[in-house]
Amino acid sequence: EASAKVIDGKSVAKQIRDEITTEVSRMKDAIGVIPGLAVILVGDRKDSATYVRNKKKSCESVGINSYEVRLPEDSTEQELLKFISDFNDDPSVHGILVQLPLPSHMNEQNILNAVCIEKDVDGFHPLNIGRLAMRGREPTFVPCTPKGCIELLHRYGISIKGKRAVVIGRSNIVGMPAALLLQREDATVSIVHSRTKNPEEFTRQADIIISAVGQPNMVRGSWIKPGAVIIDVGINPVEDPKSPRGYRLVGDVCYEEASKIASAITPVPGGVGPMTIAMLLSNTFISAKRIHNFR
Ligand code: NDP
Repeated sequence: EASAKVIDGKSVAKQIRDEITTEVSRMKDAIGVIPGLAVILVGDRKDSATYVRNKKKSCESVGINSYEVRLPEDSTEQELLKFISDFNDDPSVHGILVQLPLPSHMNEQNILNAVCIEKDVDGFHPLNIGRLAMRGREPTFVPCTPKGCIELLHRYGISIKGKRAVVIGRSNIVGMPAALLLQREDATVSIVHSRTKNPEEFTRQADIIISAVGQPNMVRGSWIKPGAVIIDVGINPVEDPKSPRGYRLVGDVCYEEASKIASAITPVPGGVGPMTIAMLLSNTFISAKRIHNFR
């Protein structure tokens, strides 16, 4: 029975963190600059608080300074904008991240537009996305989760050029930029979303599938072409009485079925998740290098 190679995001992320650690210390020794990341969390969503804590811990692990701001749920847009503007002007901060989702009384677009593009390490600024979509232009930062997906393909020696790729999901933060990146890498890309009829007819054609939907086990074995490569971005809690927490996390792809048909697949957890934070560190370091003209 065929069994897919496991694309081990956890160990690749560790390798990338080690590389960044070396580079950060080389930069500090050469020019005395320590890269800094500011993370702003509004409200007290548990999942967001966990993400922020992990980002902070990861920064520490590679020698990047992190500055955390926590604002109460009922803060005003003006209060948040003031923090963003102060970080925009602060030379010790090279990356600014506003943890999403924001409380519903805030206008996400206003907030994200306020982060100066040189420090937009999430890569969500519309100008950045515009550059990502255009030929002959370079984005200032590539959004972290899609960048992590492509990095996994690169590090596993999986070629993208000329391949048929299907992205499931078209969100601003994952699906859409993932499709743009695959296209930049010369794949022929189809995007499947909630209004697509018979999505399996598309996925069955794909050499590479990136799934970013948020539906547990939606992608079945029968959706997959034998030998395809599967990058599963989905993180979905499902009930599990056997787990101490009462739930466990699964991807969008039915791993058990897919791993018998695909040639390579990311597990959940331990696939794309750890790569997202590694790419955030990478973007913060890239920003510090660019701001200080360090090579
Ligand atoms: P969104 O909810 O913003 O987007 C989901 C996308 O999936 C939408 O484009 C939607 O289509 C599409 N979709 C929904 N249902 C279906 C369906 N039945 N068939 C086909 N397409 C469908 O989610 P995100 O992009 O933010 O996140 C997607 C998943 O990835 C989530 O599980 C999230 O937890 C995870 N995630 C993981 C990260 C990581 O680091 N590993 C980082 C970010 C997210 P439409 O546009 O028509 O509504």
